[in-house]
Amino acid sequence: MTRETDLREQICLLAKSLFDRGLTHGSTGNISARTDDGGLLVSPTGTSFGRLDPGRLSRFDDRGNLISGDKPTKEMPLHKAFYDTRSTAGAVVHLHSCHAVAWSMMPDADAENFLPQLTPYSVMLLGKVKLLPFFLPGDPAMGQAIKGLAGKRSAVMLANHGPVVAGKDVEAACNAIEELENTARLAMMIHPLPVRSLTANQVDQVVRKFDVDWDD
Ligand code: ZN
Repeated sequence: MTRETDLREQICLLAKSLFDRGLTHGSTGNISARTDDGGLLVSPTGTSFGRLDPGRLSRFDDRGNLISGDKPTKEMPLHKAFYDTRSTAGAVVHLHSCHAVAWSMMPDADAENFLPQLTPYSVMLLGKVKLLPFFLPGDPAMGQAIKGLAGKRSAVMLANHGPVVAGKDVEAACNAIEELENTARLAMMIHPLPVRSLTANQVDQVVRKFDVDWDD
């Protein structure tokens, strides 16, 4: 059991940590957690992860009524969809994290298995990540798409937008979404981009002009 004041502090602390390390920027990203009485705490709309106020988080009761705090994030349907379909979900985090978004734009992105299995940790923390198509911001169809997965996935990637991950508590959800972003970063690093390297002739010219010891 977590006291609500502790839970509020934890949400803001972990959100700030994500923001400070550039995992989401500006006023992007939103986070929510289940309270002991079956309600929810949610980051308010238009707020920055770097400056969440524990006393102003949107507070819902167990029937989904807003009972205190500021107006919740516009992306509330993403959060609700996970709580409605996964009884184990104690927290949900959504970021606009750079590498995951970049990986979602790759033409060969796998919709059923978004992340390549590069290390054991993404497998352990995320299971198979589902890539969902692009939706207009605020489109309730995003939540419907998550509901359509019937609780089978704990992590989804919204194409050209950002990841959404559910965990048993705030820390687990944050760790898992960090793993998602880190795996996407690794994937981008090793992906063979069609870059224009120096040609053999250009290298040869440099070697000769600057008298490089080239050993060939
Ligand atoms: Zn978003």
